[in-house]
Amino acid sequence: MKQICILLVTTFLLITNGYAQEVVQRKFQKMGSSFEITLVHENPIRAEKLIDESIAEIDRIERLISSWDQDSQTSLVNKMAGSRAQVVSKELFDLIKRANAIARLTDGAFDISYASVDKLWSFTGEEMQSPSAAVIKTSVAKIGFQKIVLDEEKQTVFLPEKGMKIGFGAIGKGYAADRVKAMLQQKGVKAGIVNASGDMSAWGTQPDGSPWQVGLVNPLNKNKVFSWFPLNDTAVVTSGDYERYLLMNGKRYGHIINPKTGYPSQGVVSCTVFAPKAELADALATALFVMGTETGINFIDQLPSVEALMINDSGNIITSKNIAVDEIN
Ligand code: ADP
Ligand code: MG
Repeated sequence: MKQICILLVTTFLLITNGYAQEVVQRKFQKMGSSFEITLVHENPIRAEKLIDESIAEIDRIERLISSWDQDSQTSLVNKMAGSRAQVVSKELFDLIKRANAIARLTDGAFDISYASVDKLWSFTGEEMQSPSAAVIKTSVAKIGFQKIVLDEEKQTVFLPEKGMKIGFGAIGKGYAADRVKAMLQQKGVKAGIVNASGDMSAWGTQPDGSPWQVGLVNPLNKNKVFSWFPLNDTAVVTSGDYERYLLMNGKRYGHIINPKTGYPSQGVVSCTVFAPKAELADALATALFVMGTETGINFIDQLPSVEALMINDSGNIITSKNIAVDEIN
């Protein structure tokens, strides 16, 4: 039996106790982040080909949702803000609909239209001066998922105010992880893990029949796994990019924006969400940063099939009611 250890982003340690010849694994960069695909397959050559096809699928999704690619459908929607409705593919239309449903569920803590303020902040880890209250106010006024006009029949998206903008930074990698998992399952892969920079979608078991395990690491004490969780046909997402923050008056702010105030969130350093789909877990992890630990965990405790674990900036771990950690701190 061979043990493979992988350090996942900064917060995860995953150990697979698999038979080496049956576990095929590849790391690569996509969507500006590191991805890793792990497959259980009897034919390593076929498995490598399936990973190639997965990468092509991620490229396709990136072309659809990227805000950097000026020709993506998302960029076209943004360019047409305040002018006219843009026809989009059913896939993008449905993704926006689901994103708005999560925005309603989180009372706007997660909101793809947060993006009208994203140019105001630069998360370089350095001290910066806050933009003026007036500038922030003008930008925040453009945020509001309720304003996005979706025409089901014409399959169009319209952002009614100039300067409005949507962005999928908080849900895109989760969506990609789910899509790749679904594609691989459809092609007959019985078990695997798609890890999109800490957004993981798993299915099946390790070759010896035991469940995939994910180990959580406290970002404030990275040497030690404080808890192990089995992954049974489920997704787990960790949000918290320790390099993407800024300082104002010496205080630390994370890269997630509170859509109500336009300011970056404070107080939470890491959120891990377990849910049936990575897309939902990804969006909820982002919302939890905005909600903070108390409101956030109360909220999660009311959702079926969703659990969360949050770490605040004092290093304390707060969990939803069905999560037991082996060792706190
Ligand atoms: P990670 O960087 O770990 O992938 P997230 O999945 O939480 O973290 O995504 C953060 C990204 O989401 C930000 O970089 C930004 O693009 C976008 N974003 C920031 N604030 C919000 C928000 N309130 N709602 C939706 N998207 C957001
Ligand atoms: Mg997210």
